[in-house]
Amino acid sequence: MKILKFGGTSVGTPESIRKVIEIVRAAAADESCVVVVSAFTKVTDKLIDVCEASALGGDYQASLQELERRHVEAVSELISFADQSSLVAEVKASCNELADILRGLSLLGELTPRARDLVMSFGERLSATVIAAALKGGGLPATLLDARECIKTDSQYGHAQVLFAETVSLVRRYFHERRSVTVVTGFIASTIDGHTTTLGRGGSDYTASILGAALDASAIEIWTDVDGVMTADPRIVPQARRIRKTTYEETMELSYFGAKVIYYPTIIPAREHHIPLVIKNTFNPDALGTNIGDEPSSDHSPVTAITSVAPIVLLQIKGVGLIGTKGMARRVFGALADATINVILISQASSEYSICIAIAAHEKDHALATLASEFELEIIQKRIDPICAENESAIIAVVGARMRETPGTVGRVFSAVGSRKINVRAIAQGSSELNISFVVSESDKEEAIRAIHDEFFV
Ligand code: ASP
Ligand code: MG
Repeated sequence: MKILKFGGTSVGTPESIRKVIEIVRAAAADESCVVVVSAFTKVTDKLIDVCEASALGGDYQASLQELERRHVEAVSELISFADQSSLVAEVKASCNELADILRGLSLLGELTPRARDLVMSFGERLSATVIAAALKGGGLPATLLDARECIKTDSQYGHAQVLFAETVSLVRRYFHERRSVTVVTGFIASTIDGHTTTLGRGGSDYTASILGAALDASAIEIWTDVDGVMTADPRIVPQARRIRKTTYEETMELSYFGAKVIYYPTIIPAREHHIPLVIKNTFNPDALGTNIGDEPSSDHSPVTAITSVAPIVLLQIKGVGLIGTKGMARRVFGALADATINVILISQASSEYSICIAIAAHEKDHALATLASEFELEIIQKRIDPICAENESAIIAVVGARMRETPGTVGRVFSAVGSRKINVRAIAQGSSELNISFVVSESDKEEAIRAIHDEFFV
């Protein structure tokens, strides 16, 4: 059994859905396939817009009609004339149900996270209905499964947590009878008492991995619109190359640091069950893609890829009061956590004179106010300096599982950056040695990435 997941751009138009049908046909010749689909391109964004508009009393009719039109059009292009009318009726019935919900929201004038999840679920429900019918029309024996029947979560609407024990047993029960092709809605799930939930934006990847793990699949293929994971963002480094092979851990670091290849929770079930994750391009299916597994690549470079997060700001908490005083770090991180501010990077030298942390730039004022109030007394007593934030900066992350066995990598990274006269403001390296991260001014970001790429890949 193999899982194939097709993202929004792969199911954006009738032409791309035709490509999907051919890819599934080739895969289904060898083994049973579970086809996980996202909503059509941008549909989830549109659904969020319409539910927000309706709750604010705004006009959403035009967008709703546009949504219906896109799906009806896909049906008329992809499905044979004889089967069209029943499917169009099905699409219209879903859109009417959605219209009723939106009318309810506009009467109430409020939008709860639970209602928003219900509205978003229509994207995947509609796309899976159309794609299952298109596969059938193409001669494949496809059945449709609404993931809400099998994937169970808690009730954190918008980013629900999967209840694995319940889910695995429901999935296995459903797939007990072997089916050659099953089309499953990505992204959506439900609580034990049947309310619709979603797994976080981009969550269809995660659906694929949950099913892959539950079914002990031979592979989980993520079909997207790029050839695979790249050594750097090709818009910054034109010579960036596709990575043929990488590890779960490296991919986790890369997707956390802004390389938008895969929704990072996806990696957890796949890694636990040692199921290969393969990134493939729907628009270039012959390209080998990127294989993600347990083994690092045996290529010569100790660095696998370079990525970045920006804009961030660096906060400096410094002063004599930090030296040798226990519990200061706890207060810094505790105060930020209570204010729900996410810390992206931490660095503290052993002099203990200062703690330096990176946060997203838009949280700067909130973080400064939080820390100023936490340390108000120490600041008055001059034991801690007023907290300061540097100008907008970027974190560069250099990722590679083989760095730990290659002495000198850190030196090469910093001499490459130094030779371009780029100033490094803070450095952090985890003891896993999988990732060297450092902070530069945002205006130096691209040059720093190119410098390191030239050093390791040219
Ligand atoms: N349709 C959802 C989204 O846009 C899930 C996905 O595409 O993976 O976030
Ligand atoms: Mg996506």
